Amino acid sequence: MADLLLPTNTIVHPDKDRFLHEENPFEAMMARFDRAAELLDLEPGLYKVLRNPEKTVIVSIPVMMDSGEVEVFTGIRCIYNTSRGPAKGGIRFDKNVTLDEVKALAAWMTWKCAVVNIPFGGSKGGVICDPLTMSIGELERVTRRYTAGIIATLGPDSDVPAPDVNTNERVMAWLMDTYSMHVGHTVNAVTTGKPIAMGGSLGRREATGRGCMIATREALAHLGLPMKGRTVVVQGFGNVGSIAAELLHAEGCKVIAVSDRTGGWYSKKGIDVTKAIAHVRDHQTLEGFDGGETISNEKILELECDVLLPAALENVITTKNAARIKAKIVCEGANGPTSAGADAILDEKGVFVIPDILANAGGVTVSYFEWVQNRSGYYWSEQMVNERLTEIMVNSFAEVLKLSKLHKVNMRTASYMLAISRVAMVHKLRGIYA
Ligand code: NAD
Repeated sequence: MADLLLPTNTIVHPDKDRFLHEENPFEAMMARFDRAAELLDLEPGLYKVLRNPEKTVIVSIPVMMDSGEVEVFTGIRCIYNTSRGPAKGGIRFDKNVTLDEVKALAAWMTWKCAVVNIPFGGSKGGVICDPLTMSIGELERVTRRYTAGIIATLGPDSDVPAPDVNTNERVMAWLMDTYSMHVGHTVNAVTTGKPIAMGGSLGRREATGRGCMIATREALAHLGLPMKGRTVVVQGFGNVGSIAAELLHAEGCKVIAVSDRTGGWYSKKGIDVTKAIAHVRDHQTLEGFDGGETISNEKILELECDVLLPAALENVITTKNAARIKAKIVCEGANGPTSAGADAILDEKGVFVIPDILANAGGVTVSYFEWVQNRSGYYWSEQMVNERLTEIMVNSFAEVLKLSKLHKVNMRTASYMLAISRVAMVHKLRGIYA
């Protein structure tokens, strides 16, 4: 706080060329933040405020496992910034969750909401556990105890979670129920990505993939390429990847490879996306899919294609493999799939990157619509949801593209510049409470 009241004249920008920890998502986020802050000539005080999360809560989650043994998991919730509205951000269940990852994801949520100009701040949560080895009952007990542990941060006006990797509508239903039991009445606006029957929005499940499809369509149009016949490679075949693949296919693209944690499948003629989705529905993963030759998750990224859509986890395109990426467009369905060091390599190669905070913002946009519908108690048709999502994605893409041309920077830096300037302006207007 003292630092904020006594701004110094010197900003200590970490060395932009230092990517010693390119695997660290928080550093990857900060490297991009620093570049945009420098170009915006951000005031030193604001720079310091925006480099730090507002609040991070870490809780122990004791859970009675089905075996009768007690296991203690760790849960994290990071509220990065709430200057523009309630914090918004998903909850991830994964054995590789780290504090820095959650902080980075929370910051990305802040910038993402600002890029598409929806009135939310950013947050993220994670529980370090291996959900794939846990029963439904164990997952429910983890969810409820985690919710109880972070309940002071939650609320429709303060912090609104959503699903992320390895969490889904069912997890959101347990979270909403636990919160509602604590406050004594039903509060469906406390989370988004809920089942439709309990206030979920039509179109939310498909929203992130749909947003990726729209962003890809805009990028192709910008490059003067038709949708029809464009070859697409999708890494990660969960909520984001499978729906983006399905919608791109419906728009006339040819999906030539898909992958998930069990491996990849390639077909020059094109993958039957509907069949791949049905396979995952019946078997949980793509393992055993017979619609193409097998290919590794590393090699799939290096395939010759028009559009590469990483939709799994962070840091899959790094300084180690960026030079071998052959796609014309990288549409970042996942959060943080490209390391900061890889950005420059992709730029040099002329790859058009639609950055995560723009490309996958369709999810949080329809989450916002869900929250609006919950709070007004009036529900929209799927057509209305999709039309409004399309309008926001198309306009946001155009705004970022305009800024990128104006400042002669890539789309990522332009997105950060747009987002940071919007968040910084609100901070400036609100001032610092002493
Ligand atoms: P999901 O759990 O539904 O799917 C993840 C997919 O990635 C699965 O197919 C999984 O098998 C695959 N995967 C996991 N590890 C992998 C690996 N090492 N190599 C290849 N594939 C691997 O998750 P999701 O909701 O689709 O999220 C995917 C990414 O998109 C995450 O980065 C998430 O933060 C981001 N995202 C999701 C949303 C959303 O609305 N769901 C919104 C914005 C961003």
